[in-house]
Amino acid sequence: MAENSHIDPSGAPRQLIDPFGRHLTYLRLSVTDRCNLRCAYCMPQGGVKKLAHDQVLTLEEIARVARQAVRLGVNKIRLTGGEPFLRRDLGVLLLALDSLRNRPDLRITTNGILLEENLPLLKRYGVSTVNISLDTLDPEAFGVITGLGREKGPEGHKKVWQSIEAALAEQGLDVKLNVVLLAGFNEDQIEDFARLSQNLPLAVRFIEYMPVGRHTAYDSSRFISADEVLEKMRRLGPLEALPSRPGDGPARRFRLAGAKGELGVISAVSSHFCAACNRLRLSAEGCLVPCLLADIQFDIKNLLRGGASDYELSEALLDAAACKPMNHGQALSHLQTVGCPMSRLGG
Ligand code: SAM
Ligand code: SF4
Repeated sequence: MAENSHIDPSGAPRQLIDPFGRHLTYLRLSVTDRCNLRCAYCMPQGGVKKLAHDQVLTLEEIARVARQAVRLGVNKIRLTGGEPFLRRDLGVLLLALDSLRNRPDLRITTNGILLEENLPLLKRYGVSTVNISLDTLDPEAFGVITGLGREKGPEGHKKVWQSIEAALAEQGLDVKLNVVLLAGFNEDQIEDFARLSQNLPLAVRFIEYMPVGRHTAYDSSRFISADEVLEKMRRLGPLEALPSRPGDGPARRFRLAGAKGELGVISAVSSHFCAACNRLRLSAEGCLVPCLLADIQFDIKNLLRGGASDYELSEALLDAAACKPMNHGQALSHLQTVGCPMSRLGG
């Protein structure tokens, strides 16, 4: 069997292209299922059953998948989780990714609790962008939504803010805030969050609440659409629509007049960015997941542990790309969810 896994028989480089012609150039790696928070929309309060140590891919296994994916055209990699900074020796993976030929753009998504102390690691390996998830500006409400409780919430909130400030002070690191909107919880903070972009050079992105993972009940009465968010943002003044850049993904971008930062809305549910979706995901336990909202996954852990060659691994990646659905359905009521909890998949 040919071992040159990234060249097809005609000699052309093989690429991760799905049946609809979309090039999958963006790989999201969930490096752990562990988390130090219990966000209500992501995990049940008791947490989800932890994967046993040997069920989670090793950092070397993750790096091997990433290497093949980069050979097949991936140019952007995001580390996520669970909480990625809970993964011991994360630097081993970052080093491997940083050393790849055709080095991809490296990004990370974190809840921010452990970010400040890990900034040197991100700097060392040239991580370009950090997305920090923060759903409320109210320290006590932070305790409620994250499961820390009203007493410990303010301390956690303070750590996240310190991390945001430290990240903003880091030269060359782009900072984005991810805000999941929930009716009756934080919709009254949309304008306050948006105002942050006026004085701080960060992107505040509002994300529609999604039905992801069967482990967390989805309460559709809490859904707030991106259009409602835009309406509230417009109350602050004229919004300049910013052109989308390659790699922006599904966010629609805006800027308030004279603002240092920008705003974004991610309408994962109400409108379809599926046509432009370029993502492939690898879950903490080693499943390739071609669509966040469709129940399709390919277990590649057995391949990795069964002595599969690079060629076979590439074939598995190409198979996953070939099964990417065109879209995730037209209405909320039709959405399926992947069996894998969000905390193993990484959003
Ligand atoms: N623990 C890290 C964090 O919170 O940033 C990384 C993993 S978390 C699963 C990745 C992203 O998924 C976070 O921004 C989180 O807000 C988002 N997320 C989790 N559950 C969601 C849901 N039901 N709807 C929309 N976004 C969700
Ligand atoms: Fe919250 Fe992220 Fe942990 Fe989920 S994985 S509970 S979103 S911090």
